[in-house]
Amino acid sequence: MLGVFRYEDKLGRRLVVILQGYPCAYGKCTFCPFALEQTLHPAKLFEANSRIIGEALKVKESWGPERVAVFNGGSIHELPYKVLEDLRPLASGTVFEVEERSEYVDIDSVRRLLQLFEPRRLVVRIGFETVDERIRNEVLGKDMPDTELERIYRLRLETRRMGLPVEFWTYLLFGMEGIPEESVVRSLKAFKRMFDGVIAIRYRRYSPSHPRPVGVSRGLARILEEHADLVDWGGDQWVIAGRQGSAQK
Ligand code: SF4
Repeated sequence: MLGVFRYEDKLGRRLVVILQGYPCAYGKCTFCPFALEQTLHPAKLFEANSRIIGEALKVKESWGPERVAVFNGGSIHELPYKVLEDLRPLASGTVFEVEERSEYVDIDSVRRLLQLFEPRRLVVRIGFETVDERIRNEVLGKDMPDTELERIYRLRLETRRMGLPVEFWTYLLFGMEGIPEESVVRSLKAFKRMFDGVIAIRYRRYSPSHPRPVGVSRGLARILEEHADLVDWGGDQWVIAGRQGSAQK
């Protein structure tokens, strides 16, 4: 759902701001519902985002979140520059979180985001979803080879050596047909070694053409709650274009 959401959870006091984006330039992930909320019309995009950013700034001032996450149903680099500039006061001084596909992320793009937003710390979230390359590309359609996973890992080490205030987090998808629970556990272990943070996201289905949701065992739920930095089981921000999305119990 587009808008401004407040959370107080494992990650602390945080604001989640969901902006309207243009359709994701990649747009081929088999499970992705974000096209339902995107627009092809610049005037509509600017109007919606100016209203949402205005609301978020008021909440930032009155509520004082430690973290601010901005999502646009794609990569932050796909937003018009004017919208990025409007986000500067929201990002400034916070732990500022954005989403990117890995191909947008390199040392220069990280430096530019740090210069533009001047956050206390930048968190770049990337949706690798699973450590299993076959599942990532054949089941999820991500077109993100293992070489990208390794490149981002090396970039993380490089930015650490340089002392840049940036972290790299990844999403881990579960509760979907084609992603066995053993593979989710394997991914969690590998991602914990490779990234600064792991957010496990329970799959929800928004269209009959998307993969089917499957149940989640208590054992897996416990492992994720204990070891992931956050488990996202759903909530208002996942109401997309009026749909809640289905997840199997
Ligand atoms: S890269 Fe992200 S926004 Fe684009 S289709 Fe895949 S999941 Fe959706």
